[in-house]
Amino acid sequence: MSTRVPVPALVLIVLLAFGAAGSSPAAPAGPARIAPEKQIVLDWLAKPETVERFGRISDAIWSYAELGLQEFRSSKLLADTLEEAGFKVERGLAGMPTCFVATYGAGRPVIGLLGEFDALPMLSQKARVPAQDPLVAGAPGHGCGHNTMCTAAAAAAIAVKQAIDQRGLKGTIKVFGSPAEEIVASRPHMIRAGLFADVDAVIDNHSGSGFGTGYGRIGNAVFSVVFTFKGKTAHGANAWAGRSALDAVEIMNVATEYLREHLDPAYRMHYVITEGGQAPNVVPDRASVWYYVRNSDERIEEMYERVLNCAKAGALASGTDLADVRFIAAAHQQHANKAAAELYQKNIELVGMPAWTEEEQAFARALQTELKVKVEGMPSKVDPLRGPTGESVGGGSSDVGDVTLVAPTATILFPGRAPGAIAHHWSTVACNFGGTAWKGLNAGAKAIAASAIDLLTKPEELKKLRTEFDEDTKKVPYKGFLPADAKPPLDINEELMKKYRPLMEKAEIK
Ligand SMILES: [Zn+2]
Repeated sequence: MSTRVPVPALVLIVLLAFGAAGSSPAAPAGPARIAPEKQIVLDWLAKPETVERFGRISDAIWSYAELGLQEFRSSKLLADTLEEAGFKVERGLAGMPTCFVATYGAGRPVIGLLGEFDALPMLSQKARVPAQDPLVAGAPGHGCGHNTMCTAAAAAAIAVKQAIDQRGLKGTIKVFGSPAEEIVASRPHMIRAGLFADVDAVIDNHSGSGFGTGYGRIGNAVFSVVFTFKGKTAHGANAWAGRSALDAVEIMNVATEYLREHLDPAYRMHYVITEGGQAPNVVPDRASVWYYVRNSDERIEEMYERVLNCAKAGALASGTDLADVRFIAAAHQQHANKAAAELYQKNIELVGMPAWTEEEQAFARALQTELKVKVEGMPSKVDPLRGPTGESVGGGSSDVGDVTLVAPTATILFPGRAPGAIAHHWSTVACNFGGTAWKGLNAGAKAIAASAIDLLTKPEELKKLRTEFDEDTKKVPYKGFLPADAKPPLDINEELMKKYRPLMEKAEIK
């Protein structure tokens, strides 16, 4: 339990910054008149007590740092917050105890906000400390800022509720509490369960260091698969009587390493051995390896077949059986909607980059110095709209990809992380608590809420999104990559959370 800056001091710094030099959405940017509905959401989110309330929720979820499908406390806190605000909340959906949908309003259009809240293993780090220093060694941490993300969506949705109530707006706002994004595991199941069936448009969000959005293909499709081999045990010193399942894993890995040379360059492939025996003097009769196979939507199925052949080769060569091929997840590339991104960009520009305090700039510079990246402090301007870069984009993956294929969707990236901080790394965990995280998620919430107001009140804008979406999906109709019998992997993080939860609760920042 230790932060460099005591929490009350952080609160003061944030409140002062918002009161004095913070971004001021209440004042119209330029000559454009802000619609009264939009002004309601911006004013409510700009209140210092709103900033603090959702900042504290985000900090609590940061402290819980729960892994995918184990986010019991995080999901409950968010669902309770929405329920107390008057939303109808359905919990435990699509076979996942931590999945929820919160709904307010009535009739069409239905605007969906996505919100994630899971952490990553091995990344525990003290808040706002600019050098690696775990809070609980080996424990999970919020290395992708998901603590700020569903919090931003919840804040935005509650702001939109004020506008619906005060202006008698027609339409529905929904928050999709989406577990396990770090293992890309929830959205394909949520789609399968019909949760997105009536949604007209989706506003996704992600934390980062910039403030912006984009359209076109983003990231890679992914198949996340565990291959398990079964052999025959024997004394390690009389191993001729046995058949090693670990040998099968190693032969498979050697085969996939040779495969790399012959894959389209935008592919990604990585693995960890999750089970490989327990002692050298006992031939392991069970071994497992967990693969992430990533490529474009067009290439992923063929690439996966070749990886599967490497697994079969490992079994054949070692005289073992490929006993189980378990799909943890399978998700599409993101196909972000251009009209949606253009609309969200206008609201990002309206909100503007938050103003950062000298303490926040100093922390960013200290972290950048430690990481040996450009020492530039926090960003001062929002990003320009990003256009498409082609089909084979490369990089990571998100199960938001499947959502983009069932409703027009774009992602609002909001700030908080120091530029140069690395995703899935302790440096991002260090950034996502207090000060900059509160302001970043608040700025994100304003852009999300303002965009939701546009979609609820301007049918001509919504029509642009829908027309583009209908044309795109006519060309490539949605077909999920998950096998028909795949279930959400509820057990995948159970052991790790059982081990670390008590230690983390002891270290929790209250
Ligand atoms: Zn993420």
